[in-house]
Amino acid sequence: MMLLTPDKEEESFEVKEYDVGIIGLGPAGLTSAIYTSRAGLSVVVIGRDYGGQMGLALEIENYPGFENISGMELTDRMKNQAEKFGAKIVFAEVDDIYRKEDKRFLIKTDMGEYLVKALILATGGRHRELNVPGEKEFIGRGVSYCATCDASFFKEKTVVVVGSGDAAATGTLALSDVGAKKIYWVSRSDYMKCEKIYLERAAQRDNIEILYKKQVSEIKGTNTVEEIVFNDGTTLKADGIFAEIGNIPNTELAVKLGVELEDNLIKIDDECRTNIEGVFAAGDVTSKIKNPLSRQVTTSVGLATIAAISTADYLQARYTIQE
Ligand SMILES: Cc1cc2nc3c(=O)[nH]c(=O)nc-3n(C[C@H](O)[C@H](O)[C@H](O)COP(=O)(O)OP(=O)(O)OC[C@H]3O[C@@H](n4cnc5c(N)ncnc54)[C@H](O)[C@@H]3O)c2cc1C
Repeated sequence: MMLLTPDKEEESFEVKEYDVGIIGLGPAGLTSAIYTSRAGLSVVVIGRDYGGQMGLALEIENYPGFENISGMELTDRMKNQAEKFGAKIVFAEVDDIYRKEDKRFLIKTDMGEYLVKALILATGGRHRELNVPGEKEFIGRGVSYCATCDASFFKEKTVVVVGSGDAAATGTLALSDVGAKKIYWVSRSDYMKCEKIYLERAAQRDNIEILYKKQVSEIKGTNTVEEIVFNDGTTLKADGIFAEIGNIPNTELAVKLGVELEDNLIKIDDECRTNIEGVFAAGDVTSKIKNPLSRQVTTSVGLATIAAISTADYLQARYTIQE
C-alpha cells in the first residue's frame, strides 16, 4: 500500500505500520494494549514516562487483587502482560500526530514514526508542581501529589498540605481520618477556595491547623522530607508534604489533532469515542473522570477496556467489512 506523507522530509524515515497506536504508558495505555493485542491486532504503545502517574505511587493499596503493590511493580506486570500478547512498547516523546487522507494517523516521535489505523489517547495528566528546591528530590519520599492515595502512609506523622481547593480540603480531611498526628493546611492567600463545609469540618478536628499567606519556598531533608521552609522565613518540621494545587491534563496532542475538549478534558462518549473517527481516549485525560478524587488506576483501566473494545470494533467494521 502506498503511504501518504505530508512532506518530503518524512520520506527519509522508515515508517512502521500498526493497526493501533496507543499514546501513554500509564495504566490506561497499558490496559488498552493488553486488550487490543489480545484481540489479535498489531499494537504500538508509546510513552515518555514509564507507568505514568501510577509509576510515582510508592504503594498502591486499592487495586483489587493486590493488598499492597508499588506503582512500578504494577506497571511492570501490565507491560509484561501487554508484551506477552505481542504489543510493541516504545519509550518516546510523541511530538505530533497527523490525520492522513486515507484516515490513518501518522505519529511522529523523537524515536521514529508510526502509521496506525486507529488511535487511543491515554495521555493522563500531570500534577501541578510547587517548583521549589527539594521537591523533585523527595517525590515518593515525603513529597506526594495525591493525599487520598498516600494518606494512610502518614498515620501518626506530621504533614503539610498545600492548596486551597476541594482536593486540598478533602486530602486534609483524609489525612486527619487516617490519624496523622498533625496536619498543617496552608494556603498562599488569605482564604481557602474550597467548599465551606470542608472548612467547617476541618475546624472541628484537633489535628488540623490552617495557616494562611504561606508559600513554600523549599523542602529539606536527608533521605526523606524533614522540614518545610516558607518564603516569610518561617519553617515547619514535617514528615511529608502534599501539593494539592491542581492537575494539568495532557491534552496538547489531542488539541493539535482537532479533538474536542470538555472542561479541559478529552470529550468522549460512552464508547470512549472522540469527535474524530478512529480516535478513542481513556483514563484520567477524559471527560468521563471529572471528579479529581475518581482519578484512580481502577477507573483508568475500566475506561481503557471500553476504548480498546471500541477500537477493535471500529477496525473490524472499517477494514474487514468495508474492504
Ligand atoms: C503519587 C501518586 C500516587 C497515586 N496513588 C494511587 C493509588 O494508590 N491508587 C490509585 O488508584 N491511583 C493512584 N494515583 C492515581 C493514578 O496513578 C492515576 O489515576 C493513573 O495513573 C491514571 O492513569 P492514565 O493511564 O490515565 O494516565 P497516566 O498515569 O498519567 O499516564 C499517562 C501517560 O501518557 C504519557 N504521555 C502524555 N503525553 C505524552 C506525549 N506527548 N508523548 C509521550 N507520552 C506521553 C505519559 O508519559 C504517561 O506515560 C496516584 C497518583 C500519583 C501521582
